[in-house]
Amino acid sequence: MTITSWLAASRRTVVLTGAGMSTESGLPDFRSPRTGLWARFNPSELATIDALHHRRESFVEFYQYRIRTLQQCQPHDGHRLLADWERRGIVQTIVTQNVDGFHQEAGSRRVIELHGSLRTVHCQRCGQAKPSFVYLHGVLTCECGGVLRPSVVLFGEPLPEKAITEAWEAAQQADLFLVLGSSLQVSPANQLPFVAKRNGAKLVIINWEPTDLDDLADAVIHGRKIGQVLTELNEQLAEVDP
Ligand code: NAD
Repeated sequence: MTITSWLAASRRTVVLTGAGMSTESGLPDFRSPRTGLWARFNPSELATIDALHHRRESFVEFYQYRIRTLQQCQPHDGHRLLADWERRGIVQTIVTQNVDGFHQEAGSRRVIELHGSLRTVHCQRCGQAKPSFVYLHGVLTCECGGVLRPSVVLFGEPLPEKAITEAWEAAQQADLFLVLGSSLQVSPANQLPFVAKRNGAKLVIINWEPTDLDDLADAVIHGRKIGQVLTELNEQLAEVDP
């Protein structure tokens, strides 16, 4: 059996995406050597509540950089293919660790965002949300006087409960679980492949580098770009089910 035939046969395919899904759009991931954000910033120090309150200048610089980069990028063919697969009933749910909103922009509708979104900032005090570009114009406080912060989950903050519950349910019900572009080092997202496997799903990991969960997978693809792999799978799907 091949990944294509699993995709064609699966009734509930869940895709877990990580930052590697968006590097082909020009957005750096966290951990890739040289090109990852970690090469320039230390997200584990900057993407924190502590930095928001006590190292505000560095916090704002880090997020202004990320929001500006996001504005310069757009979804690539891989994002669009996943949206097309949803329309064709090949994919049911995308669970993403990404905060770029590219899946929705490409047309995916069932997207569970585990780590929030960089598309908005909101007030830490009153909760009011604004488009994140205001951050680039130096709007860093709300009318109420509260601190504006990106609507992403910072290190040390709990994940949105609804998203976690929905992601767990999706993983439990999956019969094919596809990981795209994640080092699977961030918890609890990296528990989802275990949940899916325990409930009988096939697990496929497509990631440039090996991950710690490769031994658990039924198929792994390394050293290849996601966009190209998805394009090839799509061509093969057309042959299986024209
Ligand atoms: P990660 O940086 O830890 O891992 C990304 C993985 O993707 C790497 O192992 C890398 O080898 C692989 N990769 C990169 N480009 C690839 C490509 N074109 N094809 C195939 N594989 C490729 O990312 P993670 O596991 O998602 O965890 C990091 C955290 O970073 C998440 O919490 C996420 O919220 C945050 N983040 C998000 C974005 C975004 O929204 N685009 C960007 C940077 C970081």
